[in-house]
Amino acid sequence: MQLRIGGLTPLTTIDFPGHLAAVVFCQGCAWRCPYCHNPHLLPIDHGGEDWPMLQAFLEPRRGLLDGVVFSGGEPLFQSGLADAMEGVKSMGFKVALHTAGTHPGRLQRLLPLLDWVGLDIKRSFEHYPQLTGVSGSGAKAEESLALLLESGIAYEVRTTVDPHFFSHETLLELAKELAGFGVTHYVLQPCRPVGDANHPNPVENAVFFRDTALLGQLERMFPSFIVRTVS
Ligand code: SF4
Repeated sequence: MQLRIGGLTPLTTIDFPGHLAAVVFCQGCAWRCPYCHNPHLLPIDHGGEDWPMLQAFLEPRRGLLDGVVFSGGEPLFQSGLADAMEGVKSMGFKVALHTAGTHPGRLQRLLPLLDWVGLDIKRSFEHYPQLTGVSGSGAKAEESLALLLESGIAYEVRTTVDPHFFSHETLLELAKELAGFGVTHYVLQPCRPVGDANHPNPVENAVFFRDTALLGQLERMFPSFIVRTVS
């Protein structure tokens, strides 16, 4: 098994709804979103094998933690993810995944192992490359969304609102697209400015989250709609 971990949160009550879980931050991602809040995880910086460390961490926590969340970076970037998830499952833990849906083929193979998925949908699929820097990225996210909804696995679909990439109109457009797709649980969260060379001028994005008319429109589109202002 090959698993490269860039960090570990021993306990979370928010990253896997309704569960006490640990969060494993996987290294690697092929996309380059300007607001990525874990850019240090994007390169894979060691060729080692971190499964023994994770196994040793989890062993004494059997019966204390409900599950393990694989986050990142982008967990699907790692070909060893399925083995790691199987290992976690075989120890008696549930498994959750935070992903942007970068590798739908891998996601499809993992679905039988997953108890919950948080899927980031970044903007209307046709406009993905302007944000991710990668052509074809929108089609991959769209395919992942379709697979997730088809699977019946518990999920949230969420969008990070970076005002560099959204107006009220384009946010509504995206929400309509997602509602049309059959998304029933949708979360909006503000972008946390990273203030680096790619994204030097933090912009006020609270404007979206104070607009009660906009939020009301969004709320009416989904059976469950949440604005997550603290993450
Ligand atoms: S897909 Fe996620 S991990 Fe990859 S660059 Fe974008 S925000 Fe960062």
